[in-house]
This record gives sequence, C-alpha cells and structure tokens, in this order.
Amino acid sequence: LHAEQCVVAHVEAAHRHGADVRAREAVSDWETTANGVSVRTDKGRYTADELVVTAGAWAGEVVPELETTAVPERQVLGWFQPTSREDFQPETFPVCSVASPEGHFYATPVYGVPGFKLGKHHHLGETVDPDDVADPRPADERVLRSFAERYFPGAAGPTMGLETCLYTNSPDGEFVVDVLPDDPRVAVGAGFSGHGFKFSPVVGEILADLAIHGESDHPTDIFGLDRFGGAGSVPG
Ligand SMILES: Cc1cc2nc3c(=O)[nH]c(=O)nc-3n(C[C@H](O)[C@H](O)[C@H](O)COP(=O)(O)OP(=O)(O)OC[C@H]3O[C@@H](n4cnc5c(N)ncnc54)[C@H](O)[C@@H]3O)c2cc1C
Repeated sequence: LHAEQCVVAHVEAAHRHGADVRAREAVSDWETTANGVSVRTDKGRYTADELVVTAGAWAGEVVPELETTAVPERQVLGWFQPTSREDFQPETFPVCSVASPEGHFYATPVYGVPGFKLGKHHHLGETVDPDDVADPRPADERVLRSFAERYFPGAAGPTMGLETCLYTNSPDGEFVVDVLPDDPRVAVGAGFSGHGFKFSPVVGEILADLAIHGESDHPTDIFGLDRFGGAGSVPG
C-alpha cells in the first residue's frame, strides 16, 4: 500500500459522499449532552448526534477511558544503502517480516527513497508522551544496523536516514473498536498496535455502524473494551 495515497483516496471518497472534512483543526475537548455530543476545537464548536474518536497515540488524552488501553510507544525506522544494490530491488527482494532471536523485524526493498528500509517491531519498548518523542539516537541505529549486518550484510551500507514514529499499543496487541461503556453515542477506534493501517476501511465501516446503529455485521467481540476487565473506566 502507498499509505499517503490511501489517505487521499479515503478523503476524496468521503467528499464524494458529502462529508465535510476539517483538517488541521485541533480538538481541545468534547462532551456528551442531552441532545448528542459537542466538540470544541481551536476553530469552533460542533454538535452532532454521535461521535467517533480515532486519535491514534493521543487517544488516551482525548478519551481518558483509553489511557491504559492505548499506550504510545516510540518506534524508529532506518534506511541503509545496499552494497549489493541489485539484490535489494522490488524485483529481487520481498517485503518481509523476520522472527529472529533478536526480535521481530520487517524490511522492504529500496523503493521510492534511497535505502533498504528496516524496522523492529516494538523497537526499544519505550512508552512515551506522544508530544515529546526523542529524535533518532545512536542506540536506535545500532539495533537496526546490527540486525542488517547479521542477516542482510549486502544491505548494511551507509545509513541514509532514520525516522521516529509512534505505535499505540493495547494490552493484548489487538484493536479497540467499540462504543464507550457509559455512552454508546461515542465510538472509539484505538490501540492498533502497529498493524492497523491496512484495516482502516473496514474499521471505519464498523465504527460508523457502532456509532449510528449500535451494532455491526462484522464480528467485533475481540475488539471490545470489556475484554480488559477494569480497563475502560476513567483512571482515578
Ligand atoms: C513505523 C510504523 C510502521 C507501521 N507499519 C504498518 C504496517 O505495515 N501495516 C499496518 O497495517 N499498520 C502499520 N502501522 C500502524 C498504523 O500506522 C496504525 O495502526 C494506524 O495509523 C492507526 O490509525 P489511527 O487512526 O488510530 O491513528 P493515526 O493514524 O495516528 O491517526 C490519528 C490522528 O488523530 C490526530 N489527532 C490526535 N489528537 C488530536 C486532536 N486533539 N485534535 C485533532 N486531531 C488529533 C493525529 O494528528 C492523527 O492524525 C505502522 C506504524 C508505524 C509507526
């Protein structure tokens, strides 16, 4: 998938169906009211019958009930210039996932930008404040480079780039797609634990069904907030 093009395709489809998309507008707070929901942003206030919240790493800030079920984790990706270029092209090297004694890594051939792309699932296991994520450090590069040197030595040339991003982990690594226990007018999608992007079309469909109809034709039990027992209540 080309992630950016997928996002653009979704926004264009939403526009075709009459959606009013407001980007670059920060939600400061929201509340349920006798008539529905009210959302305040840095540009205004909106009211609606139902609300769907998908705030990624900020889920626990926007919806306090999610603080312990959607936990931000720092990730770092690296791009390394192959010394044997021909072995790491899309025609010669697959997108792959490697379960190794060093952990679960994933890699892609050189594509779009210079360098063989490598990441480690749950990189250093660092829980972070999503507004204060450290830039890549030598320790991040070492984790990725040592793996490349051991398993893909032909790809372990000069470092071309390192980037941070965020996972948002649930306690069991499965998604949270549910309505809030105390208010079924509010549906939440969170805790996608590093594997949510490819499911975004069906997750969006389920969230809309849950918010509007209170149920979905898709099986959603494994995504329920109630599987965490005490989780789903506002931390005291
Ligand atoms: C390195 C890396 C590799 C990954 N690889 C894969 C993969 O191969 N396959 C896969 O399926 N998934 C992958 N993922 C996971 C995937 O990116 C996530 O599961 C998915 O993006 C989660 O979607 P989301 O909508 O919950 O959060 P996000 O995509 O983070 O979207 C949340 C949005 O909410 C906005 N927001 C937050 N708070 C506010 C606020 N107060 N007001 C307004 N807006 C707000 C944020 O700015 C953000 O735009 C990867 C993630 C990372 C970091």
